[in-house]
Order: sequence, then C-alpha cells, then structure tokens
Amino acid sequence: MALIVHKYGGTSMGSAERIRNVAKRVAKWARAGHQMVVVPSAMSGETNRLLGLAKELSPAVGSPELNRELDMIAATGEQVSVGLLAIALQAEGVEAVSYTGWQVPVATDSSFTKARIESIDDTRVRADLAAGKVVVIAGFQGVDEDQNITTLGRGGSDTSAVAIAAALKAAECLIYTDVDGVYTTDPRIVPEARRLHTISFEEMLEMASLGSKILQIRSVEFAGKYRVPLRVLSSFTPWDISIEEEAKSGTLISFEEDEKMEQAVVSGIAFNRDEAKVTLLGVPDKPGIAFQILGPVADANIDIDVIIQNVSHDGKTDFSFTVHRNDYARTMELLEKTVGPATQAAKVVGDARICKVSIVGIGMRSHVGVASKMFRALSEEGINIQMISTSEIKTSVVIDEKYMELAVRALHRAFELEQIPT
Ligand code: ADP
Ligand code: ASP
Ligand code: MG
Repeated sequence: MALIVHKYGGTSMGSAERIRNVAKRVAKWARAGHQMVVVPSAMSGETNRLLGLAKELSPAVGSPELNRELDMIAATGEQVSVGLLAIALQAEGVEAVSYTGWQVPVATDSSFTKARIESIDDTRVRADLAAGKVVVIAGFQGVDEDQNITTLGRGGSDTSAVAIAAALKAAECLIYTDVDGVYTTDPRIVPEARRLHTISFEEMLEMASLGSKILQIRSVEFAGKYRVPLRVLSSFTPWDISIEEEAKSGTLISFEEDEKMEQAVVSGIAFNRDEAKVTLLGVPDKPGIAFQILGPVADANIDIDVIIQNVSHDGKTDFSFTVHRNDYARTMELLEKTVGPATQAAKVVGDARICKVSIVGIGMRSHVGVASKMFRALSEEGINIQMISTSEIKTSVVIDEKYMELAVRALHRAFELEQIPT
C-alpha cells in the first residue's frame, strides 16, 4: 500500500454534490489501504469572485503594495474547500483532518500572488497519516517567514500537490481535473484534439510554460526536480470504478523517452493570451543597450518573455519584448518614464492585443522543416507573424490576438494531430 496525493481542481470541487463525489473517490482509495493526502482548489469561480470583490474596492488592486492583502483574501477559497472536503470524508466514514498552508506549514518566499515554495514540514501530516487519517491540505497557499499568508499564482494548487508529494516522497501524484488527460491542444478550442496517453516531461514542461493551463508550470518543474510520478486524469469518471482502471487512465507524464514509441514530430499546441508586447523605437544600437532596457524591467520583478531586436539603421534600432498582460501597464510606465528617456528612445509603443501560439515536440530535435511548415500553415490563413522564438523542442510565434483560434486550428490540422490514435 502506498502514499498517494490526489489533487482536485475547482470544477471538481464545484458544488456540494461534486465534493461528495470527491470524498467517495478518496474514501475508496483509503479503504484500499493507501495513505491519502488530498489537495483541493477553491470551488470553481471562487478565486475570481474573491479577487473581483477586492477590485471593486480599490482601483489600486493589481499594484504590488496590495498583493499581500490579495493573498489574504484569495487564500480563503481553498480554506473553505479543505473544511468541506474533510466533513464530506467524515460523512463517508473516513477519518480526515483539514489544514491551511500555514498550518502545515508550507513555507514560501514573500513574492505575494506568485510565491515560491521553499520547504514543507511533513511532521504533522506524517503523524496524521500514521494515525490512519486522510489529510486534506489547502492548495495554492503558503506562509512566508514573517507569517504572512502567500499564494502561489493562478493555478497554483497543482504546484502545492506536486510539492507535497515530493516532500512526502509519495508513490504518485494524481491531478484530477475536468478533462480526462493532457490533449494535443485545449479541447475547448479544437474539439478534434486527442488525448495523449503519455507525454514526456520535457514536452509537458514546454506546454505548461507556453501557456497550456492544464498544469501550472511550477508543478511540472517540481515533478522533474524530485521525480514525482505525475498523472492527469478525470474527476468525472464514476467514483466507484476500480482503482486499477483509474490508476492507468488519463495521461502519464513520463520521464523515460520510450525509443519504441512512435514519436509524432509535434505533440501539442499551446497558446497564451496573457501576454502584451512593448517596443522601444529608435534606440541607439550600442553595446549594453539590451541590459539598459531589460535590467530595470527585471529589477521591477517583471518577467520578460520573447525578445526581438531589429537590424540597425543609422546606428538606431527597435527593441521589442513581451511581458505578462498583468504587468503591461507597469512596464509601459517604466519604459515611458525611466527606460525610454535613459536610453534616448525615440518612442515607446505597446500592444496588449497579441497572443503567442507554440508548437511543441521532442521529435523536432531530429526533424528539419518543422518551423517552416508552421509558418506556411499560418501564411495560408493570412496570419502575420510579429515575433518568433525557438528552442530545441518548440517554436513560438507572436500574432494578433484575434487570429489565435484560427492559428491553433490551422496548426492542429497541418501537423495532423487529430490523427493521433486514441
Ligand atoms: P482545474 O480547475 O482542475 O485545475 P484547469 O481549468 O486549471 O482545471 O485546467 C483544465 C483545463 O485546461 C481544461 O478544462 C482545458 O480546457 C484546459 N486545457 C488547456 N490546454 C489543455 C490541453 N493541452 N489538454 C487538456 N486540457 C487543456
Ligand atoms: N484557486 C486558485 C486559482 O483559481 C488555484 C487553483 O485553482 O489551482 O487560481
Ligand atoms: Mg488548474
């Protein structure tokens, strides 16, 4: 019998009826003799509702000074979930105890709204497990060294679950969600998307980092660092299916590159609407310019994604990069007030209506012409590419947001992903 971590997302926890179903499923695993730790998210819509309330009260919400208070508010969503789930488990006749992040504690840094987990104390959890209890731990949250409540960024319950699984050296971490696995792309955009039985860890890492919302990127990083066996599966199968059947359903994130596996060149398509592009026009093209521009942006704790610098004319060049849309206003202000004047830029322009679409596949390592096939498919749809970024196993393009769905569908067809055998 093994120590297993289950994570249930917002939709899976979305109503009393669904929480009862989660409890029945967890109880089934506990009765089979497994030691169970369960990490739920807030009920669906709840985090948005809580953050929306805060926004109603102040236009300053979104600026870093208020992030501590936002975390205080947002963390309550998961606190409700753990209490409800523990009660539902008890109603199923299973002993259960609920904890918030700070009670465990899950120690994080102090980057409110996007904190990183630093360590997890497993003493209390282990004692409960040894006493035969199911332990229910709030996802998405932790506590910093000054006892402030922190949250891990949207979708952060995935990361809580995997980090807890790593800390407890769990045999497996099962991520239960509202789809039955990882698909070639978001099935909400492309109904013909196919479920992948396995996806390599590297591909999953790229998919998540390129915007695929199925798993938060940091959860995949944790799984890689600590080799946590990870599976994404549906919480909507009948709760009483056999454990054997359940344990092999969904998508396994695999750490082994199976040589024999028929590798598709491209395994998936990711997209991200959460970016914005900023450009400094007419900056002097001289050594140190990239640092002069991006240094202050990094110092302001703003993550930079795709970067492009044009060929220079008369000693001047244009320099563009993308940031998260939440950081767009701050970045524009920084460029207009400080960086632009300091670098003698002729003009600062921004565009928040862009998106990034990416193809991902470890098969790209050994095949040529994959990117050009991507560019052809986009050109056939009349889609203009604004920026390009590549790595060994992905190619991303930045395009006008209004073409996003068209681009994803065209690429899904061009790489014949709907023909992957199910
Ligand atoms: P949860 O609340 O369980 O964490 P999320 O909404 O965060 O669920 O993630 C699940 C959703 O991710 C799915 O409903 C689906 O629309 C979306 N998604 C995006 N990309 C993919 C993909 N490649 N495969 C499966 N689902 C995806
Ligand atoms: N409830 C949080 C969110 O909506 C965390 C999560 O669902 O993983 O982002
Ligand atoms: Mg999620």
